[in-house]
Amino acid sequence: MTITKNLQLQGVQPVMLFLHGVVVEEFAKIDKPWFLTSGLRRGGKKSLHTRGFALDYRSRHLTPQEKATITRNVAKRTAGHFDFIFEPTVRRLGRVVKTEHFHGEYDPK
Ligand SMILES: [Zn+2]
Repeated sequence: MTITKNLQLQGVQPVMLFLHGVVVEEFAKIDKPWFLTSGLRRGGKKSLHTRGFALDYRSRHLTPQEKATITRNVAKRTAGHFDFIFEPTVRRLGRVVKTEHFHGEYDPK
């Protein structure tokens, strides 16, 4: 259970702890560690990371089945408050420009 060293936690909104609690429980259920890989960060204006309303978690240590299970269960348990999705690796001209991960953001409906 790891919080990546160089990510910024200060500025992450307190409401995100509700999502994090569910993520931690779901990783425990499949007996795999969780890695928080992104909190507050600069980036596109549309990204909720810039305002502290999004968190990213590593997914590459999971099987496809486990990725699906985590995505489905976290999304179901936090529906109406958060969006939780699996973002696959993006390659451009053969280079990885974005590594796969889970992205969760506060989006009350
Ligand atoms: Zn994200």
